[in-house]
Parts: sequence; structure tokens; C-alpha cells
Amino acid sequence: MPPAEEVRRRSHSDYIFGKVLGEGSFSTVYLAKDVHTSKEHAIKVVEKAHVIREKKTESVMREKEVLRILGNSCPYFVRLYWTFQDTDRLYFVLSYAKNGDVLGQIEKHGRLSIDCTRYYLAELILGLEHLHSKNIIHRDLKPENLLFDENWHILITDFGSAKILTSENGHNNESSTIDVPEKEYPYKRRNSFVGTAQFVSPEMLTETHSSYASDLWALGCIAFQMASGHMPFTGGSEYLIFQKILKLEYTFPEDFPREIKALVEKLIVLEPQKRLGTSDERKYSSIRQHPFFTVLNWDDLGPPPKIS
Ligand code: ATP
Repeated sequence: MPPAEEVRRRSHSDYIFGKVLGEGSFSTVYLAKDVHTSKEHAIKVVEKAHVIREKKTESVMREKEVLRILGNSCPYFVRLYWTFQDTDRLYFVLSYAKNGDVLGQIEKHGRLSIDCTRYYLAELILGLEHLHSKNIIHRDLKPENLLFDENWHILITDFGSAKILTSENGHNNESSTIDVPEKEYPYKRRNSFVGTAQFVSPEMLTETHSSYASDLWALGCIAFQMASGHMPFTGGSEYLIFQKILKLEYTFPEDFPREIKALVEKLIVLEPQKRLGTSDERKYSSIRQHPFFTVLNWDDLGPPPKIS
């Protein structure tokens, strides 16, 4: 029999709320302590009225659904422990990522060392293998969405843009998505693409649906940023960034590590089906076998290297 607190519903009074950890566009995240276990959590508090006003209900529900599907089946994801609500707010009790995010470490150190880049890309790849095996595309992967737990392992977060594939052919059955209709791109609805401009894949700009390969494009962009400190595609406006993405207009800094360059060039590829990993029978064996990763034991990555 599980202890009583595991079977009954939770509420605000089960937690001592502490400092604000951060603010999202329609949420505030608090550090909170479970009064029963003393375990620390991040609690995401979402104002219902704000979500409805901003028409983000679907995104919030999708995030909850993805976290529910993932449960505690893979260590590389933020875990949803409980949800509850009161009249005005929804509460998501999440794992507390004590050590910030990958972007913070890139900014602190200028860029990540080759060993750190390899290690954290490997954790991200293991996470993606798992996510994609559950028929979920993240669609907003970027260093800010890779948090660090207390032992400096990655916790992938932010599933508000995710897509849950529901049919066998890999297409989405959701009736309403916020993908950009092809004809309207990018002039009329410039802000309606899914994800973040600098990491969005070309097919997410030009087609009405994305695929697992869109996450592999983002993986390439993240590898580039970890190793160089810079995003591959930047520009003064979203429109200019999109133009560069569609033309594959990016350059490697001179001192960019050669072995990581070889990997990035196989991921930042315009045609989704030509990206490394997309034709793998067993996802993502071809990425695992890339020469950049030969020094790794994929069955046991070992402890994380000290970040530098
Ligand atoms: P947006 O809603 O605009 O996309 P977001 O996804 O960053 O932004 P939230 O998920 O609400 O919004 O997170 C807001 C901030 O709270 C994050 O930027 C991060 O600093 C912090 N945060 C979120 N989740 C956690 C967590 N599990 N542990 C620690 N801090 C967190």
C-alpha cells in the first residue's frame, strides 16, 4: 500500500512556497518544498484567465499531456509529479533544476569544452531517442530548454510547442495547431511559427507539419552553439533569420572544433530526410556511431565532466 499522501490529491497546502525561480509568458515558477517529504520542487503556476485570454490553453494542456506520457521513464526530462488547481490557477509540480540551464553555462564560459559538448549532446540524444520512441516531437529545443539537475545532468523541458503524433503515418491528428500555413508564410503571420526563430527548421517554415527530423536540425544548432558560443542563424529580425535558415546561410568560426563541425554539417541539412539519423532503423544509431562520439560508452556515459 502506498503511503496516504501518495494516493490522495495534492493542493497548495502540501507545499511551502519560496522564491520565484523564473517567469514565463503566462506562468511563474516557484521553488517549493513538499511538507511531507521536504523534497524541493519547481512549481509552475499558471493563471487560467491569462492562458484563456492569450489562447494558450492548448499549449498548456499539451505540455501537461507530454509530461504525463513521459512520467519518470527517462532521466533526461523534467518530471511532472503532481498537478492541482484552484479557482484561478493551475499548478504543475516539477523536478527542480537546481543548476540553471545550458544557455547559462555557455554564456558563463563563452562556449563549452569539446568534452562537455560531447557529453551533453549525448544526454540530449538519449533523451530524443526516448521522446521520439513515444511519438513526440519537441519542436522547441534550444539551450534554454536544457536545464541541469543537482548532479549536472540534463533535464529537457518546455513541451508547450510539442507535437504528439497520433496516426501511423506520422502525421498529426490534432484539429488545431499553430503551424504556419504554407501560403501565409512568412509575411502575414510572422509570429505564428512553432518554436524559436533561431532554432526553427526550414520545413517548419515552409510546410504545414514537422517531423522528428525538426528536432535533429535543432540538435545541430545546439551543437554549434555549445561548441562556438554562438547560434548558427542570427539576424536583425525574425524575417532575416528565416531567410538565412531557408538558404542554409551560416558559417563556422575558424577555431570551431573539426570533429564537431563534421557532425553539425550532417544535422543542419535542408532536406529533413537527409539529416543524420532520419533513416535509422534503430533511432539514432547513426548519430551514436558518428566519429565525434566514438570515445563514449553509450550504455554508461559516466559522471558529467566539470563544465568549462
Ligand atoms: P515561455 O512560457 O515564455 O515559453 P518558459 O518556457 O521559460 O517561457 P516557464 O516554463 O514558465 O516559461 O519557465 C519560466 C522560468 O522558470 C524559466 O526560464 C526558468 O528560469 C525557470 N524554471 C522553469 N522550470 C524550472 C525547473 N523545473 N526548475 C528550475 N527552474 C525552472
